[in-house]
Amino acid sequence: MLSTMQEAPLSIAQLLRHGSTVHGAAEVVTWTDDGPRRRSYADVGKRCAQLAHALRGLGVTGDQRVGTFMWNNAEHLEAYLAIPSMGAVLHTLNIRLFPEQLVFVANHGEDHVIIVDPTLVPLLNPQLAQLETVKHIIVTGNSTAGVEAPEGVQVHSYEALIADQPTEFDWPEVDERSAAAMCYTSGTTGDPKGVAYSHRSIYMHSMQVCMTDGPALKQGDRALAVVPQFHAMSWGLPYAAFMIGASLIMPDRFLQPEPLAALIAAEKPNFSAAVPTIWQGLHQYLEAHPQDISFMKDVLIGGSAVPPSLMHTFEEDHGVQVLHAWGMTETSPLGSVARPPADTEGEERWRYRYTQGRFPASVQARLVDDLGEPVAHDGKSVGELEVRGPWITGSYYGVDAPEKFQDGWLRTGDVGTITPDGYLTLTDRTKDIIKSGGEWISSVDLENAVMGHPDVIEAAVIGIPDAKWDERPLVAVVLREGSDATADTLREFLSDKVAKWQLPENWTVIQEVPKTSVGKFDKKRLRSQYQDGDLD
Ligand code: ADP
Repeated sequence: MLSTMQEAPLSIAQLLRHGSTVHGAAEVVTWTDDGPRRRSYADVGKRCAQLAHALRGLGVTGDQRVGTFMWNNAEHLEAYLAIPSMGAVLHTLNIRLFPEQLVFVANHGEDHVIIVDPTLVPLLNPQLAQLETVKHIIVTGNSTAGVEAPEGVQVHSYEALIADQPTEFDWPEVDERSAAAMCYTSGTTGDPKGVAYSHRSIYMHSMQVCMTDGPALKQGDRALAVVPQFHAMSWGLPYAAFMIGASLIMPDRFLQPEPLAALIAAEKPNFSAAVPTIWQGLHQYLEAHPQDISFMKDVLIGGSAVPPSLMHTFEEDHGVQVLHAWGMTETSPLGSVARPPADTEGEERWRYRYTQGRFPASVQARLVDDLGEPVAHDGKSVGELEVRGPWITGSYYGVDAPEKFQDGWLRTGDVGTITPDGYLTLTDRTKDIIKSGGEWISSVDLENAVMGHPDVIEAAVIGIPDAKWDERPLVAVVLREGSDATADTLREFLSDKVAKWQLPENWTVIQEVPKTSVGKFDKKRLRSQYQDGDLD
């Protein structure tokens, strides 16, 4: 028997209509050289209609891709909402990709138009001649200065383009399964791979961002979106904010600790999201320049494991609660969130919060062994994490990747355990595991332990070749200025925290851990630097 329920397709246009009317007084704040620039969601709604008319005028039809090469700002929010709502596909381009990767993804995604921020024009210019499908460049603001467009490519200023357009648009009804937006993985191995999110998947994911036991974004929140809009859709914040009526605070290009601290002081966000390295940098800055940030009640951190020491620092020094979450570009990205069981207290509560958390009902998770056989969720047995669900990708755009899927499950490449009550603890990525004398050493556990030392700012652990044990851990560590910590004192510090045979004998002090295009430790670069075991 079929249900009697109406078939109402879920769409981005619905989020746009809802956010710009019911929550029309909410605002998007963009940080600039001169402080905040404010725009109400009601105005965003009108400008989205104008942008959609302008894009139609440039010939954007059907599911054509419109790329964005932008910081987090009001215009990027408009692109997020207008492009999918008109039926086209938003393609967020990572501004930190290597030039050849950027050319690859724009050509592979067949972008017809690229919207670019003026400050990023110099970064895009050298690649423009190689972009095979791009016909229009739109520069945000009022000027097109500096664009070196090849023949056949037209250049427009965003404001001039939308200025005389109608402020209403008859948003078409779209199939909820059709693509709304796409994002390529950062391609640490091989070419980047594209994930195409549907209207339905984004809509459902937005509901998850607002779930009480998820990030719990709510009406009236002021959400500071530090995680870039080109990194896994800014973890879904822009769409969820329009769904629920939370204001968005966008840092644009001001991502260094000092301007970030100024923005936080001025705009008083109560919610935020970013990878651990951003918070590590902010904490260091605040140590030298104390300021109250205790109004930031919830800080969502994910993208790589959050060291427990960082969680304690933010809570105890700054009165800010860190919420640990796990996800991937392929998972929209929200997977698990570490909200502890309601009946826990004290230390036990903390132990749950250190984990990568629990999956929501919509996302199924399992662990499998090397043969692809399920492994028990007993909190001890280790396996590779596989997931499936309505906002998990089932393939990559335009390319076969059979090794990434098994019987309808996405293979995440992450390794860990799951407890009977569903809490995931990741010990590594498959490619980062250190195999020493036939046993596994978790690089994440070692990093967390080393980062618990008060003199350590950052620590990344990789495996290096070893004649006797095949591999041994190497700790690359960044020390606080003036610290007199040595390999010996750090080893001593670890001695009651990790098993004796895991204690690293290889240490190197570095100025900064190399980072990927989305601000995570770049272990691939570290490995290539130290693969011959040369620590000098
Ligand atoms: P990239 O692969 O370029 O880093 P993603 O942001 O899609 O881009 O990365 C997803 C990966 O990030 C996951 O597969 C996992 O390895 C890592 N990750 C994300 N969140 C966490 C977390 N909370 N703890 C440990 N690792 C995490």
